[in-house]
Amino acid sequence: SSAEQAVVRRSKVFNDFPSKGVSFLDITPLFLNYQDFDVLLSYWQQKFQDVELVVGLEARGFILATAIAQKLQKGVVLLRKKGKLPGTVLSETYSKEYGKDEFEIQEDIFSHAPLPKNLHILVVDDVLATGGTLCASIELVKKALAKNNIKQYKISTCVVSSIKCLSGKEKIYEKYNDVSIDVI
Ligand code: 5GP
Repeated sequence: SSAEQAVVRRSKVFNDFPSKGVSFLDITPLFLNYQDFDVLLSYWQQKFQDVELVVGLEARGFILATAIAQKLQKGVVLLRKKGKLPGTVLSETYSKEYGKDEFEIQEDIFSHAPLPKNLHILVVDDVLATGGTLCASIELVKKALAKNNIKQYKISTCVVSSIKCLSGKEKIYEKYNDVSIDVI
């Protein structure tokens, strides 16, 4: 697809980053090229027309989530690394390709926009590796929805690229049979 071509044109692999043995796919050049970035966003816009709320993962997920949310004319919820969000938060610890981390969401964040009865949420990140980050994010969103008594919802996820050999997609599908994953 043209979205795939845009991503391939504007991403680059760095070996032994951030540590030895890890191949890191850098997608940030895509942000610099307005036209190619827009090809990706238009693809997502078409695909996720009925999404009501976008969730972005720190840090590159913030840029992608905000951009697609503006196209869809919907709001964004930020999932942040531990200790960055004020007020009461819910948290989830997870392990990833190179170390442990903890994500948080503000407990009452969903109360700031009118939400439909059957809520379609899109969780956005840049790259899917082992799937640990996306799994924790889905868990966190589910926790926050439960806290806010939102019972009817659908969660979709999308990423710009995935490191296929790490089987992140399989891990998520194993855990959640009701969550879809779109990889460009
Ligand atoms: P996972 O939890 O799936 O193992 O790792 C995914 C998370 O780590 C994402 O938030 C992503 O930003 C980051 N990550 C892991 N590997 C890569 C990579 O090769 N390239 C980029 N850009 N991010 C990565």
